[in-house]
Amino acid sequence: MGLRSLFGALPPRIPYWAEAVPVESLPLPPKATLLWREASPGDVGVAVGDSVQTGQNLAREGAGLFMSTVTGTVEEINSLRGADAVEYAVVGIKTLEVDSYDSSIKSIEDLASASPEQILAMIVRAGFPGFDAVVKGATVETLIVSALDQEPLTAVNPQILAEHAGDVSVGIAMLTRVTGAKKVVVAIPHNSAHTAHGISADQAEIVKVRAIYPNGLPEILAKKQGGGLLLKTDRNGTVGNTLVVSIEHLVGMVSCLREGRPFVNKVVTCCDKPGGELKNILVRIGTPVSMALENLDVKLPPGGKLVINGPMHGYACFSDEQPMTATSDSILVQNPAEVHRFENTACINCGKCSAVCPEKLEVNLLGRFSEYDIFDKCAELGVENCIECGLCVYVCPAQRPLLHLLAHAKLVVKEETAGK
Ligand code: SF4
Ligand code: SF4
Repeated sequence: MGLRSLFGALPPRIPYWAEAVPVESLPLPPKATLLWREASPGDVGVAVGDSVQTGQNLAREGAGLFMSTVTGTVEEINSLRGADAVEYAVVGIKTLEVDSYDSSIKSIEDLASASPEQILAMIVRAGFPGFDAVVKGATVETLIVSALDQEPLTAVNPQILAEHAGDVSVGIAMLTRVTGAKKVVVAIPHNSAHTAHGISADQAEIVKVRAIYPNGLPEILAKKQGGGLLLKTDRNGTVGNTLVVSIEHLVGMVSCLREGRPFVNKVVTCCDKPGGELKNILVRIGTPVSMALENLDVKLPPGGKLVINGPMHGYACFSDEQPMTATSDSILVQNPAEVHRFENTACINCGKCSAVCPEKLEVNLLGRFSEYDIFDKCAELGVENCIECGLCVYVCPAQRPLLHLLAHAKLVVKEETAGK
């Protein structure tokens, strides 16, 4: 699909992928690299040379959870500052071919009779992200289980719904008890051939969502289908009232909890040319991008670009040694002609950016205030509400780097507010 050919349309109608994409498993990587966000090497509780098991908590005591997704020997402990300006602890592990599993992850064979507390504890311990606010006791008014992918050129969730429909109903019943949600919604792409068979009307409301970006973003689902704000934790504690869980994570929870296994495998969609077929691979979390590309016989052309997590709000990947994480949904290989070049040209006040912004922000003003470091004005105009969907960049005829400018302003405003 040639996304660039859609430029100029207002409002943009960028479709999600609608066709089936079978999943092919990749072998284990010889070395897995694990990233721990907002942590430093001092938070790691293992040393170079230590043997580790799959599912083992690598954090030092009291520092939280940083789970190994492989069995092997620690080769490297390091730090890096990510493209999101956040510090990461990095642990490299030389892998063994056969997993030996950490025994602290216990199986729960009867999910219907286990207590919600027991299930929640094991969901978190098994490595599923996104439950911080629930653990902190936040009220979940609406639970949304989403079969939409977040980005175009991604084919993860509809495929998993098609392959594992039987576990969806079990997972919904489990999460409804765990979260205490008053309302449960299953969001399905309007053009999906697969419906959530087996889900009764009294278990969840099934909503067909128009399969157009950004309708699959959790913030948009929470606003339109949950009637509220996405549940998350921030400096003030927990905010929001709607928990969004992907079908991939829901199905993964059911199987991991039944078997007493950690969440270590991730489906990732690869796309290497406009109009080309998508490929789905199942990788071990920690596998480098280079190994995925090699196995698919895909090469990054000179002058091309790797983008992780989609063309709209994904991020450029400057090293193909970057590992896949629990939230990596896609790898996009762009040839030089497709790479979006930003210009430092002046805003022509066309208003297109503000017209498409789902958060109704005055994007042209925010871009200029950020450009000239006037961050108090950015805060006044609500830059923190930007969900970084990238639609403003997509329509800007001046090709201004609006997403970068707003993301930078968000970070500065967040840091300044935290320092007060
Ligand atoms: S990236 Fe932010 S400012 Fe731009 S359209 Fe999306 S929400 Fe609005
Ligand atoms: S930033 Fe771009 S889209 Fe927005 S008003 Fe200026 S030129 Fe138009």
